Amino acid sequence: MESQHVLIIGAGLAGTSLAHELLARGHRVQMVDRGENHSTAIAAGMVNPMVFRRMNKSWRLEEFMEDATKFYQEMEKVLAHKLFHPIVIRRMLSSEQERKYWIERSKLPEFQDYLTELNREDDDYNLAKNSFGSGRLKASFWIDAKSYYDRNQAYFAENKCLTKEEFQADEFNENTLIYKGISYDKVVFCVGYQQMNTPFFQDLPIQQTKGQTLRIRSEEIPEEESLNRKCFVLPLGNQVFRIGATYEWDNPDLTPTEAAKHELVEHLSVLGNFHYEIIDQQVGVRPTVLDRRPILGEHHAIKNMYLFNGLGTKGYLMAPTLAKELCRHMFEGIPLDKETSIDRFYKKLNLR
Ligand SMILES: Cc1cc2nc3c(=O)[nH]c(=O)nc-3n(C[C@H](O)[C@H](O)[C@H](O)COP(=O)(O)OP(=O)(O)OC[C@H]3O[C@@H](n4cnc5c(N)ncnc54)[C@H](O)[C@@H]3O)c2cc1C
Repeated sequence: MESQHVLIIGAGLAGTSLAHELLARGHRVQMVDRGENHSTAIAAGMVNPMVFRRMNKSWRLEEFMEDATKFYQEMEKVLAHKLFHPIVIRRMLSSEQERKYWIERSKLPEFQDYLTELNREDDDYNLAKNSFGSGRLKASFWIDAKSYYDRNQAYFAENKCLTKEEFQADEFNENTLIYKGISYDKVVFCVGYQQMNTPFFQDLPIQQTKGQTLRIRSEEIPEEESLNRKCFVLPLGNQVFRIGATYEWDNPDLTPTEAAKHELVEHLSVLGNFHYEIIDQQVGVRPTVLDRRPILGEHHAIKNMYLFNGLGTKGYLMAPTLAKELCRHMFEGIPLDKETSIDRFYKKLNLR
């Protein structure tokens, strides 16, 4: 296929995963990012294959997991930086019901790659409060999110395909797809929770879900695994841990709050009466959608203008596969998954 020139607005997880996929397919990319990121760079970057509440696998887990694992390992080479960290998540079970679900599921073939069967050691685990036993997850990992964002900024800037600036709507002609005098074949908006402040896709329901985490230092919390119950405890090395995360719907405010700090401290106390000092508190905003599915696809009226957004709480798991699917749709006309397609909203608005 002939190489095309694609303009991407926003160089967070959505924009960068798409850019790498486009480059791998031989296209040319230009990115615009104002260099102020409050999601991709703030994230804990955890990839947890399970949804513990119902003890189910994450949506489309197998496809997403395979692509994500390959993508971040490849990114380590491209960005010349350690990003991919396998980690065992130890779930401290919260009830007899959850324990029963775990025992049942872990015996099923479709869960074998993700749940270990409970053993005596898991039942007797005493490095955290243990009322109903504990279980370990396989295949989980975390990405060093801040480095992922910073290294991508440097990589695309060095390759002269990233401009650090606010997207200038008055310098963009949507009929010709000319931006600042340069003509593009396609334009993709990947602006995360700031979508309502960017023209063209404002009528789509991206919610702004504020999230806060703490960094703490403790000599008492185990560092070999990531404890989980009510909150996650991610070991970062040298007795430093990330504790998260809170959820506040429809709140784009970037101020850290005492209420969130107290919530996280309280949740951590469910895992143990650990001694620790708080190092700092991080705040970000996730781009989420009420139906918990991302939004991908072409604008209802402007040809060759696309959206890639709504990565929500599991962005690091989903982005690599979705970037591929968007590319196949843009260049080969392959329909998008109905659950992620922008059409589900355009149909409701009678725009498609
Ligand atoms: C506290 C917290 C913890 C999280 N933890 C996890 C986790 O453990 N695992 C996980 O998978 N996910 C996690 N997430 C979610 C994950 O971070 C998001 O799904 C993902 O980063 C969203 O990426 P994005 O590219 O859509 O948006 P963003 O990262 O917000 O990127 C959008 C980019 O667009 C740019 N931009 C916006 N408007 C303009 C404009 N007008 N002009 C120029 N540039 C513009 C911004 O500068 C920004 O860099 C967490 C999020 C938060 C807030």
